[in-house]
Amino acid sequence: LFITIEGPDGAGKTSVINELYPRLQLIAKRGIVKTREPGGVKISEKIRQIILDPQNEEMDERTEALLYAAARRQHLVQVILPALSAGKIVICDRFVDSSLAYQGAGRRIGMPDIRKINEFATEGTKPDFTLYLDVDSDTGLKRIENARSGRQVDRLETESLEFHQRVRHAYLKLAEEEPIRIHKVDARMSLTDVVEESFTAITESYPQ
Ligand code: C5P
Ligand code: MG
Repeated sequence: LFITIEGPDGAGKTSVINELYPRLQLIAKRGIVKTREPGGVKISEKIRQIILDPQNEEMDERTEALLYAAARRQHLVQVILPALSAGKIVICDRFVDSSLAYQGAGRRIGMPDIRKINEFATEGTKPDFTLYLDVDSDTGLKRIENARSGRQVDRLETESLEFHQRVRHAYLKLAEEEPIRIHKVDARMSLTDVVEESFTAITESYPQ
């Protein structure tokens, strides 16, 4: 069972995944792997550093999209596919939908090209279930602003409100197009409520 968790910046993916993990552990008969792109995989981490380095401001948007796809590929092969082969549940913070939203809509490359390069990178591997944590861009940006205070800014944290709005609208459209795979949760609710709804959605879709 391959589960992904998606959402705009400040949706609270990391907090939600950390709370979901121990609860899913209890019902995962053959184990569970919690991971995130680039997932601690050496090659993918190096690629990620190149993408996020504030000094790489001349990076072309298609270069960025290819680098994300490359990092994704390596993490898929080294972490996700072996775990799925062993019958484990995999819960992953971000996957192809992030590239559709951020590079496709945020950077305006367009969905067809992003789908193509990610089809190549994943050979068609798709999540069985995706939690989409939906938050409006104002709320999301306020949350990361608060959480960040004093921390290092990465290259992507300086994007405009409009960028983040394009990302959110792309996610909403994806969720509408694939209502069975993608379960939308209102991430403005309390963490407890978001986790509760998310857990119920997963277990109802995939009764153990
Ligand atoms: O939320 P997370 O920590 O996973 O993302 C780190 C940064 O990478 C965020 O600023 C996010 O906007 C950006 N990102 C992106 N394109 C992706 C995935 C993440 O621009 N495909
Ligand atoms: Mg995060």
